[in-house]
Amino acid sequence: MLDSVLVWFRRDLRDNDHVALAEATRRARKVYCAFVFDRQILDPLRGTTDRRVEFIRESLVELDSALKKKGGGVIVRHGFATEEIPRLARELGVAAVFANRDYEPAAKHRDSMVTTRLREHGIASETFKDQSVFEHPEVLTATGRPFGVYTPYKNAWLKRLTEEDIGCFTPAPGKFVPTRAPDPVPTLDELGFLPTNLHQLGIEPGMGGAHRLLDDFQQRMAQYATARDYPAVKGVSYLSVHLRFGTISIRELIRAATTASARTGDSGAAIWLSELIWRDFYFMILDCFPHVAERAFKAEFDRIEWESGELAEVRLEAWRNGTTGYPLVDAAMRQLNSTGYMHNRLRMVAASFLIKDLGIDWRRGEAFFARQLNDFDLSANNGGWQWAASSGCDAQPYFRIFNPVTQSERFDPQGKFIRRYLPELAAVPDRFIHAPWRMTLQQQRACKVIVGSDTPAPIVDHDEARRRTLERYAVVKKPGGA
Ligand SMILES: Cc1cc2nc3c(=O)[nH]c(=O)nc-3n(C[C@H](O)[C@H](O)[C@H](O)COP(=O)(O)OP(=O)(O)OC[C@H]3O[C@@H](n4cnc5c(N)ncnc54)[C@H](O)[C@@H]3O)c2cc1C
Repeated sequence: MLDSVLVWFRRDLRDNDHVALAEATRRARKVYCAFVFDRQILDPLRGTTDRRVEFIRESLVELDSALKKKGGGVIVRHGFATEEIPRLARELGVAAVFANRDYEPAAKHRDSMVTTRLREHGIASETFKDQSVFEHPEVLTATGRPFGVYTPYKNAWLKRLTEEDIGCFTPAPGKFVPTRAPDPVPTLDELGFLPTNLHQLGIEPGMGGAHRLLDDFQQRMAQYATARDYPAVKGVSYLSVHLRFGTISIRELIRAATTASARTGDSGAAIWLSELIWRDFYFMILDCFPHVAERAFKAEFDRIEWESGELAEVRLEAWRNGTTGYPLVDAAMRQLNSTGYMHNRLRMVAASFLIKDLGIDWRRGEAFFARQLNDFDLSANNGGWQWAASSGCDAQPYFRIFNPVTQSERFDPQGKFIRRYLPELAAVPDRFIHAPWRMTLQQQRACKVIVGSDTPAPIVDHDEARRRTLERYAVVKKPGGA
């Protein structure tokens, strides 16, 4: 039995079903808990509004109070994690630091620096699998390699799954050391951030918020199969931000999905389970192929020459601001900019538009999403962007190019979503809502929406853009390069 352990919370802000916490309480007499607002991540964002910082802060307040009820609390620091954690471990005199594993290259680098510094002072460190159900090398191809294609990965993942893999990791009672600070979590202002619209949006941080969403989604899970693709409908779980910050455990969600699927044979639950498996898949891809964070998963796609220069910059800005003239793309981007969320179908449409209609490097879109998304996760975001760019694993073939008007007609047939985020198009008749420029001037006058002044004219012609994209992508077919 170890004398004392420090549990370092990162993206796992909960006090139950938490592997590092359960292990610490099982293997040590005394357990301390800590969180660091890492200046390495936060300094470049200081002075801005960032819903994620507010989400983390409020989740920490809840976590601290939950741990206090168990006799402990969270020690919170604002500094560089690579310095703060070794310093705190020394101050507390712990034998070891425990944390849940993170698969992002920067996090792996940070963790290895912390491990080295702890070792220099004779303090052990250990990390645990908690963020995903399976990690590398647990799910491998028949030849013992990591999968690069999703469906066989999913089949192997499902074949391996036992109840033990999704068991609940409950911390043992009576081990937590009380923290002295009554209110240890700094205010947003002290952290250098401005308040956001998180609460106006109805986003409830913390374990309580996550469980309320799960309860609500469990009533709707059966409809997921049919409703999940329609952005105007409440068809998805909205749990991504909670998964991102670990205010709910992935095992709890898999238990909910497998139980519903076994009980009712419901295809909604089975499809939702597949989405959760995508999350594991992309963690594994980032862990095994870290080059994807900078380059194409498939090297030949790095030969593509993207648009650059003034016109490309103007178009990129129009895409960012939701003023491309394509209503579904613009509504999606306005949803992202005003709420930090974008529906999955729209993430695919908006990403495809940037890459294949505007010819702009997928990494620029990826970086914009990374800044805007509340649920930003390097692995899933990169996977999604490389899928849309056709350069990733299991990607959309390069010659399959989303038509933003057809997508709009299919997935927002009455334009309800479009009108929600583009109120200026409210009076446009349903049959023109997907492509207002197809109205005659007389029709535009009748609904008082003049294309080019009340709403932007399309910045590119889709058919022309499609042709250029096929030319641009031809380079990937040529052996050895252009
Ligand atoms: C270009 C692009 C960028 C994306 N960026 C992110 C991102 O930064 N963070 C993120 O969590 N997801 C990302 N996704 C995946 C997906 O769009 C979101 O997970 C989903 O929209 C979140 O909403 P939800 O929680 O209601 O999802 P639900 O439909 O309820 O799905 C449940 C959970 O399954 C996981 N999931 C679903 N789809 C995927 C997927 N394709 N890949 C990986 N995990 C998935 C998520 O954790 C999600 O919360 C991206 C997809 C694309 C196409």
